[in-house]
Amino acid sequence: MPPDRTDANPAALPQPRVIPRAQHNLTRKHISRGALRVLYGLHEHGFRACLVGGAVRDLLLGGRPKDFDVATNATPEEIRKIFRNCRLIGRRFRLAHVIFGPEIVEVATFRGSGAEGEGDRHLVDGRIVRDNVWGTIEEDALRRDFRVNALYYDIADFSIIDYVGGMQDLAQRRLHLIGDPEQRYREDPVRMLRAARLAAKLQFTIDPAAAEPFPRLGHLLGDAAPARLFDETMKLFMGGYGLASFRMLEHCGLLQHLFAGTARALARDEHGALRNLIEAGLAGTDARVAEGKPVTPAFLFAVLLWGEVYALARGMQSEGIDRTLAWQRAAHKVMAEQMARVAIPRRFSYAMEEIWALQPRFAERSRKRVFRLMAHPRFRAAYDFLLLRAAESGELRERGEWWTRAQALEAEQLAAELAQSRTPPPPVSGEPAAPRKRRRRRGGRGRKPPASSTPDAPS
Ligand code: ATP
Ligand code: MG
Repeated sequence: MPPDRTDANPAALPQPRVIPRAQHNLTRKHISRGALRVLYGLHEHGFRACLVGGAVRDLLLGGRPKDFDVATNATPEEIRKIFRNCRLIGRRFRLAHVIFGPEIVEVATFRGSGAEGEGDRHLVDGRIVRDNVWGTIEEDALRRDFRVNALYYDIADFSIIDYVGGMQDLAQRRLHLIGDPEQRYREDPVRMLRAARLAAKLQFTIDPAAAEPFPRLGHLLGDAAPARLFDETMKLFMGGYGLASFRMLEHCGLLQHLFAGTARALARDEHGALRNLIEAGLAGTDARVAEGKPVTPAFLFAVLLWGEVYALARGMQSEGIDRTLAWQRAAHKVMAEQMARVAIPRRFSYAMEEIWALQPRFAERSRKRVFRLMAHPRFRAAYDFLLLRAAESGELRERGEWWTRAQALEAEQLAAELAQSRTPPPPVSGEPAAPRKRRRRRGGRGRKPPASSTPDAPS
């Protein structure tokens, strides 16, 4: 192993455990072509080059990582000189992207521990806002979050280098935070979400010392950048382990800091209808991810926040506010609160509001309106949403079945059936009114909604 230059006190640095090639199961066969080219390219130019992080962890566990991270002692400028297909990105955390067609390999220079204010490392209230001090591989290992995420696969001799006891944690399926948990969460509160997500995905237990601060420090997520929380939310719910992640977030008491409205609605959910709706939505998304089908976060966010929108809208209606207006205001309020925490891009937030607003239109049976709804760009998501609701509500079951059947029919057949029966199905309590009902304002304004048979069940 080539020696590393270090100015730090050697006594403070961990003694690595080196696991030679013959004693571990990580083979190059499962490393992407792009990552191998980067590793060899750096090595041939005399730099240290290791695969690191989630890819090493997942490969040792027998999984197939989606992305491969490389750590090196080459600086971003040096990396760029070696690879023409390279882009330097990030200011807060500068790194290189080396691009091979659809594959992007992230290459990061070893980070040092860098004392407060030294070089390009900055903390605000204990939070790391900039981290661009280069260091040695030992220092780089210590600034990573969990021990299992700090294993290095060295392309020089195909060994695994373990500075912090990551191999033992992998064997025991445990997540230990490196260093003092409180300090590490204060530096970066998103690490709490990473703990919950990785525990759910890997079916690992979170070490008690790493879990203990959650109730005290969970609120620090309010200081995290909303755009970053959106990225993390995507990984939590759209990565194929959404249901497990959701349950883990709740178990850790972190859901309230990410989706406050959802946590509040669940606290009121006496009969479990909302929980069933949410869990079915997450399980459905996980199944689609497993089958390689497309998924949209708009659908899932619409599911997560439905209980809160529903309760707010009902409350406003009981105060005499018109149904349509109540639903618009409720949707607006819930979205505003949510977007202040998690920056959901506009295209998704619009889609969520559409999914909600389309719900009452499934009650309509005139030929024109049925075909118009089917042609709506959000029809599929809104119909899937209706089916989730129908599973929780006797009132809606017939409606869900009707639309399932309608889609299976040929267009002419459906048109003929619609021409025969013109009686609309009875209204379902509590849902948003279809926008066009506004025309009948005179009698409808300020009227109280019919009492729901299941007032606690926002399905
Ligand atoms: P996955 O890719 O499965 O979501 P991962 O552990 O690879 O999990 P990445 O976000 O790809 O997650 O990060 C790669 C590595 O960078 C991590 O394994 C860890 O070593 C380090 N890392 C990522 N985020 C942080 C953080 N907030 N604090 C410290 N180290 C981090
Ligand atoms: Mg990764």
